[in-house]
Amino acid sequence: MQKQTVAFSRESSNLFFHILTRCNLRCGHCYINRAQHGETTLPIETINAWLEIFAPEAKQTNLVLLGGEPTLHPDLAQAVKTAKGLGFKSITIDTNGFLFHNILDKITPGDVDFISFSLDGATRETNDAIRGEGCFDAVMSGIEQAAARGFSCSMIYTVSEKNIHELDRMPGLVNSLGISRFFIQVIGIRGESGDPDARNQVSKQTWLTTIPKVAEQIAGHGITVTYPKVFLSPDEGFQCAANVARNYFVFPNGRVYQCPICEDFALHSFEIENNTLVPRPRINETDLFALDIPEGCVMNKMIQPGNLAYDDSGTPCHKIACCMLKEELSP
Ligand code: SF4
Ligand code: SF4
Repeated sequence: MQKQTVAFSRESSNLFFHILTRCNLRCGHCYINRAQHGETTLPIETINAWLEIFAPEAKQTNLVLLGGEPTLHPDLAQAVKTAKGLGFKSITIDTNGFLFHNILDKITPGDVDFISFSLDGATRETNDAIRGEGCFDAVMSGIEQAAARGFSCSMIYTVSEKNIHELDRMPGLVNSLGISRFFIQVIGIRGESGDPDARNQVSKQTWLTTIPKVAEQIAGHGITVTYPKVFLSPDEGFQCAANVARNYFVFPNGRVYQCPICEDFALHSFEIENNTLVPRPRINETDLFALDIPEGCVMNKMIQPGNLAYDDSGTPCHKIACCMLKEELSP
């Protein structure tokens, strides 16, 4: 088994394209903020035009099509085929499992690299309390159908105080599902969970004692596991991904961010106007990325300073890593 911290690279880029914000679910920790990003469903012509913006870098770009729930878009299959034609390095669909519009009938395993299913509990009871009734069964059935047709499937488990007690049951569950990648996510601080009263992040100690151990168990079943590093010791180097890599988070109202934690604010670096990517006037998130602080991630310090701790001399006991810095365990 091989463990590595996935270094940021200017050589590859990630494009997270929210083609709509609409969803059939109302997850307690939903990261979508409709007050900031609207309720538009992009017409397929606009999706195609916006994919073209990134076409010159397509061969180095991992594309993730997401929402809201992307399979609610009646033309998702066409968007996938446009992306395929443009030669994106990889194409992933992130879904909550309901697979609307018979999407599996309209695309082939050759069109997408992964269909990624979100599951937030090892049991129906825990998952559906967070994500909504019927969701656990939809994910199980969705993976079964997709895997039977030859699609590569992955799973995303967003860890919070509401479901960490079931994470150690996931190795047994995923073993029989036929997924090839497992992503552990930390609960975001945006959208619904941006509300200080609705935050359910686990403590540093719980994170460090639970996550690496479960990740190893899952990887032991031949599944590649990725999880955020979150905590850096004071002597570990810190990098803000926005300064050293290319990540684009595109919303249907044309906002384009480089940092997902900025998404609750009108701080986006770019805007798409007339199908062109236009830098926004300063001040925007770019000015925050330039701040070099001993606590690591500047957005973390601004939004949730409560998860920082200091020694008697006022030095941070740990730094918070960029939310996009990942550990990867390959079987
Ligand atoms: S987290 Fe995803 S599946 Fe859940 S409500 Fe939000 S967009 Fe829908
Ligand atoms: S999460 Fe923090 S470190 Fe990462 S891009 Fe955003 S501001 Fe930079």
